[in-house]
Amino acid sequence: MLRDWWISSVNLLFPPHCAGCGNSGTDWCVHCDNETVRIEKPFCLRCGRPHSQVVRKCSSCFEYPDKLRVRSYARYQGSLIKALLQLKYRPNRRLSALMARWLAEVLEAANWQATLVAAVPLSSKRRRSRGYNQSALIARELSAIMGLAYASRAISRRRQTKSQVGLDPSARWQNVHQAFRAQPTQVDGHAIILVDDLITTGATLSACAEALVHAGARMIYGLTVARA
Ligand SMILES: [Zn+2]
Ligand SMILES: [Zn+2]
Repeated sequence: MLRDWWISSVNLLFPPHCAGCGNSGTDWCVHCDNETVRIEKPFCLRCGRPHSQVVRKCSSCFEYPDKLRVRSYARYQGSLIKALLQLKYRPNRRLSALMARWLAEVLEAANWQATLVAAVPLSSKRRRSRGYNQSALIARELSAIMGLAYASRAISRRRQTKSQVGLDPSARWQNVHQAFRAQPTQVDGHAIILVDDLITTGATLSACAEALVHAGARMIYGLTVARA
């Protein structure tokens, strides 16, 4: 009850606006929800990329580590791009909780048995300037929904990397190669859900998965809100 009271007070102070189109009254309106193109079968069972039929492996994921599987909620377009940008400007709890519920739906469909939740880390420089990691906000909410532990120190950056934006595919793989380090004390023996906001080539998730496997993780399940 206290929580309900708190939520209605917060809603009075900061009335919800749709993260996609800005209309007031809700965090995500029916119009934006209808326009969002969810990623459903048929897709590649390994990387989740849509195909005309279900395949076990495809040309997009031949460089993935063996223990990595990836699924995404929807295509990176329209209102969803705006919603993801909003979460980079402001740590909106309601929006991160909404995205976590989307990821929980994807997880249920994938039927993966995970034991731990982690997030792809930002560079320390970007983390300092933004003050938080938007993927970690979503990952924390998802861990609460799933009743799993959230491992905040599971994985970190070993070195600064350039932004992946604007790099061609091979430069993206090069840029993040061996850029991450994982903590064996946190991840050893675990099947880990690794949350990121967006997947483009899968280079970042692959580099993270390699570090996690090296630290003893059994399996890595990459979950992203959007797929470019
Ligand atoms: Zn909207
Ligand atoms: Zn694939």
